[in-house]
Amino acid sequence: MPGSMLLQERPQADPCDSHFLADVAAGQVRLSSEQAATLYRQMPLAELGRWADARCRAIHGDSIRTYVIDRNINYTNVCTAKCTFCAFRRDAGDDDAYTLPNDEILEKVSELTAIGGNQILMQGGMNPDLPLSWYETLLGELGDQYPDVHVHAFSPPEVVEFVNFFDPPGSDFRAKVKWVLERLQAAGLKSIPGGGGEIFAPAVRRKIGLGKCDAEIWLTVMHVAHELGMNTSATMMFGHIEGVDDRIHHMDLVRQWQDRSLTDFAPDGGGRYMAFISWPFQRENTPLGRLPDWDGSGEFPGDVVAMLDGSGEKLVAPEFGRKLRLAGASEYLRTQAISRLMIDNVYSIGASWVTMGPHVGQLALNFGANDMGSVMMEENVVSAAGTTYCLNEQILCHLIRDAGFTPAQRDNAYDLLAVHDTDVSPDLQVDDWSEFRQAKLHVQGEGCDEPVAVTVGGVDSPS
Ligand code: SF4
Repeated sequence: MPGSMLLQERPQADPCDSHFLADVAAGQVRLSSEQAATLYRQMPLAELGRWADARCRAIHGDSIRTYVIDRNINYTNVCTAKCTFCAFRRDAGDDDAYTLPNDEILEKVSELTAIGGNQILMQGGMNPDLPLSWYETLLGELGDQYPDVHVHAFSPPEVVEFVNFFDPPGSDFRAKVKWVLERLQAAGLKSIPGGGGEIFAPAVRRKIGLGKCDAEIWLTVMHVAHELGMNTSATMMFGHIEGVDDRIHHMDLVRQWQDRSLTDFAPDGGGRYMAFISWPFQRENTPLGRLPDWDGSGEFPGDVVAMLDGSGEKLVAPEFGRKLRLAGASEYLRTQAISRLMIDNVYSIGASWVTMGPHVGQLALNFGANDMGSVMMEENVVSAAGTTYCLNEQILCHLIRDAGFTPAQRDNAYDLLAVHDTDVSPDLQVDDWSEFRQAKLHVQGEGCDEPVAVTVGGVDSPS
């Protein structure tokens, strides 16, 4: 597990020097933000991937790559925020606004356990009509009926709104967050997903996350969760209006706050960021997606504004926030590879193939990712914004094995539950792969059709 000691930087080193990168890959030196930015811009993709892969192998070994079977439950789509990249939210009075009743949520968990699942990823909009007792009752019923199912739920923006809605006791924001999280933890909450991370840089965040908490608050919620012994994940949604330096800054903040949690709480059994997952923005059905594409002339406004310390100001580029630069497979793999090298104190880098497709996800295992994410049974948030791919356990195992690794099912703590190294492995039971044709794995703008057990890349999707 990386992060037990804080690494030193070697700021004068040429980041493209193979001796320096060998030390980075071995976990002996820390990449600075400036070095990461240089690597991003200068190193050929295949070479960058090899170094990210070397770092991944130093942490996770050469053989096993993992996945988890969980179910994404979006308990409500009513939301007070208006993120411009979101196609999922509704106002309370909208015809298709919903809040799932408890028995429907419990039924979904029943279906999950029937296929061997052991975790739910539960996130929703920021719904002011739901009192704390609604959450406590739900968590209690989940714990009573499914004590072995890990509840990974309520991303920082939701927790922030809980503080606003519930008016908890406490002299400051941190104390109020702690009170709320202690109540939810006592009711059965086990860990916190990293939804709502987007891009931390204020100039970008103000443009795309209307009504959503800033980076300091997002990171503080996670720091409190770590204090309470809960593990969390961190996410980044890129490929919209941000600059490359914004991505590096985002990764650096995750690394800095992980350092803090490891120093402050790890000796006493505290929690930490267990995973970092990044994925490209999906434009369909979103206000942000209606922006015109950048035509490639001149410098991209996001790059003009972006600063490695997050201090970029929109005024320096009048076109900032008015043009999109979507990320394709190369940008995705490059960004993920940099995250593996940069975020040296987070154990898992997750491949997010939900939007890029299973074969790019498979490739991501050679660009620093150790985990293929989750087999889930529905997906509502990312699919509302366009394309998603649906994979079941057999295909996930097949993809991992085909990439040269042994697939293994894990739990939320990344402990291995089943290593599929025998001929009774899920993928090795399939005689006829024709029923898994690509066309059947591809869903555009809708949730996946049941009863197929499907996957959305282990993404702690938006909230
Ligand atoms: S991304 Fe989450 S917080 Fe933002 S509008 Fe959508 S549901 Fe609400």
